[in-house]
Amino acid sequence: MKRSLSLSGIPVSPGIAVGRAAVWLVRADSSPRRDLDSEEVPTELERLRLAVESAIREIGEMAGQVEERLGREYAAIFQAHALFLRDPSFLGPIEKKIRIERVNAEWAVEVVADALAARLRDLPDQDLALRASDLDDVAAILRRSLGEGEAAVDRLASLTGDSCVLVADELTPSDAVRIPRDKVVAFVTERGGKTSHAAILARSFGIPAVVAIPKLLASIGDGDRLIVDGREGVVWREPSEDVLALFRERQGRDATREHSLKERSVSGLTRTRDGQEVSIRANIELVREVPDVFEYGADGVGLFRSEFLYLSGAGMEFPDEATQAAIYRDVVVRLAPRPVVIRTYDLGGKKGARHLSGAEENPVLGLRGVRLCFSHPEMFRTQLRALLSVASEGDLRILVPMVAGVEDVRRVRTFVEEARQELLERGIAVPHSVPIGAMIEVPSAALTADLIAPEVDFLSLGTNDLTQYTLAADRANEAVSDIFRPHHPAMLRLVARVQEAARAAGKPLAVCGEMAADPALFLLLLGLGIREFSMGPRSVPLLKDVARCASAADASRMARAALSLSTPDDVAALLAREAETLLSGDPETRAAVNA
Ligand code: PEP
Ligand code: MG
Repeated sequence: MKRSLSLSGIPVSPGIAVGRAAVWLVRADSSPRRDLDSEEVPTELERLRLAVESAIREIGEMAGQVEERLGREYAAIFQAHALFLRDPSFLGPIEKKIRIERVNAEWAVEVVADALAARLRDLPDQDLALRASDLDDVAAILRRSLGEGEAAVDRLASLTGDSCVLVADELTPSDAVRIPRDKVVAFVTERGGKTSHAAILARSFGIPAVVAIPKLLASIGDGDRLIVDGREGVVWREPSEDVLALFRERQGRDATREHSLKERSVSGLTRTRDGQEVSIRANIELVREVPDVFEYGADGVGLFRSEFLYLSGAGMEFPDEATQAAIYRDVVVRLAPRPVVIRTYDLGGKKGARHLSGAEENPVLGLRGVRLCFSHPEMFRTQLRALLSVASEGDLRILVPMVAGVEDVRRVRTFVEEARQELLERGIAVPHSVPIGAMIEVPSAALTADLIAPEVDFLSLGTNDLTQYTLAADRANEAVSDIFRPHHPAMLRLVARVQEAARAAGKPLAVCGEMAADPALFLLLLGLGIREFSMGPRSVPLLKDVARCASAADASRMARAALSLSTPDDVAALLAREAETLLSGDPETRAAVNA
């Protein structure tokens, strides 16, 4: 047996899990080119043949699982995938490239698939153009099969055992959303940051997670027994029985505390000690999280990240208008009369949609969020029609991501109007005033919030991206995680400025970034005048407790003091001290915050 070892990283999702490691190798984004000697060519062609067979098997298995879980229509997507792998007009040019240019198969697959996909995308026929995304997927599966042969089968879908700890280099949002929650008890990665979407999903799903663990893949092997401590950010490999017993005991204590917090968390406005009303809503990514909104006592949905409809789909396809409308209706009706804020697609950046945005040097600064929607008007209009068509069935509010200035808001309003007209022409009634809100997550939007606020119905501060773009620190890159700090004086000033703009325009402002789920930062936001918050459902009970036992006037004094400080460390130290004092009247809450 391997000796016992502990590794440390960034804790991103609390909780303790015990399980066996399932090492999951990440797909390479781009294949390196390797020139072959002529005698290597036959072996390379054989390698390609085997990989094609393995990919066809993998796709068949995926289709079976998808049919079981989601239905036959979704499984049909994979039939199209498999057709590519049998099509000589796809495979022929790959073989030719290997034979004539004497290059490795991965490179040949990538170049041929990219060229073919680009040709498909240029076709006027929308259906054929959409096939380009299938081709991207097929190429990725084939490259994976080439890299790892038999082992390339999508391990996420075929994990066995019911207590797996997923061990990976990095998880993309679409990987994270596919984690089978019945089998995976935790995940740990070598890369990543606290506000990466994989981390946010882990918190939503209640899966303990630790990221940015140096030398993780070199230290952990498949089947190793692991303890993951998602609060302290520690992973134990092959722990001794004594260590195991200690963690089991802590697991029990955590469960009791969480249960008691949950019991106290009921839907409905929370009042601070000095009588200020605070609403705390839930951020969700998937429809299956709707029961969590009730279970954790949230006051509706403050952010439904609709792009996960696409990212979690079996073949990464956009649901058509009727399917989207059915999904939105379901959420809105189940939560009525509570508000449901649905964000239009925030794809691009790291939430991969390469076939829509094209290859970009700097995707996070590229066609992301509403910009990508503008460049795919029919996709945007379809989503808006689906949203507007169900608006009369509950309290639906539409939120637009990555707004950079008031010009974006005006353009969105034109799209909304067009969508409304199209529905009216079809005889579908649309309420006159469906609230349209702007996410404030780009510094230019924060700095011009006074211009934006009068032209929208509400604002929502996306502090994850606002921190990333203000501090020029990638939210998912562990190398700059010490720079990515919402405590930075620049962030405090921006939030205060946006709050003032919203107040002056008489428009509601919520904070839906992860900043709101940190008790000390929550108190700071409360002190800056914010009264609406939104966070992962599981964070709601603790933050409702914090709101209940804090005084907004004291929080405001603390915020004023914080605004006068010069460094993130100074702000963090002040908040830590003051939060202790602010919560001192309630030992139970203080203990939960410090747990
Ligand atoms: C944010 O940026 O703060 C936000 C809530 O949106 P997302 O995390 O999905 O980018
Ligand atoms: Mg964002």
